[in-house]
Amino acid sequence: MYVGSGLFGDYSQPERHIRAFMAGKEYRFNPDTLTYERIREPVRLRIYRYLRHGIVLFLLVCILNMLFSLAFRTPKMERIARENDELLVRYDILSRRISEAEARLDAIHQRDIKVYRPLFGADTMYIPGIYIPYPDSVYADLNGYEYSGIMVSNWKLLDRLGRKIYLQSRSLDQLQMLATDKETMATAVPAIWPIDKRNLRNNIGAYGNRFHPIYKRYIKHEGIDMPADIGDPVYATGNGVVKATDIGFRRRGYGRQILIDHGFGYQTRYAHLSQIDVEPGQRVSRGEQIGRVGNTGGSTGPHLHYEVIFMGHTVNPINYFRRDMDPEEFERIIQSVQTTSYELLE
Ligand SMILES: [Zn+2]
Repeated sequence: MYVGSGLFGDYSQPERHIRAFMAGKEYRFNPDTLTYERIREPVRLRIYRYLRHGIVLFLLVCILNMLFSLAFRTPKMERIARENDELLVRYDILSRRISEAEARLDAIHQRDIKVYRPLFGADTMYIPGIYIPYPDSVYADLNGYEYSGIMVSNWKLLDRLGRKIYLQSRSLDQLQMLATDKETMATAVPAIWPIDKRNLRNNIGAYGNRFHPIYKRYIKHEGIDMPADIGDPVYATGNGVVKATDIGFRRRGYGRQILIDHGFGYQTRYAHLSQIDVEPGQRVSRGEQIGRVGNTGGSTGPHLHYEVIFMGHTVNPINYFRRDMDPEEFERIIQSVQTTSYELLE
């Protein structure tokens, strides 16, 4: 018996089992009709076959898609990647901008501690802990993302900037307060002549010890004497409040006098007046007329006795004239100051 198989099937049992496969379809040889007949596949098997094919196809497509996405980017992925890059660039720009702002703030801070604060005699302002970074727990919300590092470092930069701005603003607030005080002080401290310089009739009588011709000893002259005509205006040399007029303290031969309290430890006295234009408690401004030159009290001729008192002690008023004199004029005045007395020494 011939046993074999081939294109036309299995010939071992020619009558019933001759089969053939053509174009993917299965045929069986029918010895009665001597023709090949197509074998009909059962529906169930056919469904299984389709399902099998479908699953295999699906898996293949999946694998291909995966391979494709590994090798190439889809337009959507491309867009997301581009956006990511852009975001990174923006973060980089942001951190640079923050650093620039910080550098500018640092420059202001340096000017503040080297120029502005010394100008007002203020020490460098320090707020404890202002330079200590916040704990990492503050930034916990930002953790766990791909770009957490960049986000956290930018937040830290911003927070540091914020702390420095706070310190600087506190410092400037304080300076503003000091400046306001300073302005008040500048207008309060005696700084001008109590009479018009052109009204000066003779040399100024000096401040300090002078020799008493009769007692043969030195007696301190607490102010300077400015000879002028009776009736010449006398001006307040700084802003202040009239503390007292002659009434009630006519002593030491001052005659009619005015005592002004300027605050900041300063007082001025104007003595031997012929007229008083202010009352105790009255506010006066620098340059305001408060009275007139006279010859009252222990005076040997018309003149203004002018005193500057600082912290309860008289100081040389000449030193408080500088503000409205050039150095040359100041020198001339100093030279002309005489030990001449215009007063009766006690
Ligand atoms: Zn005097």
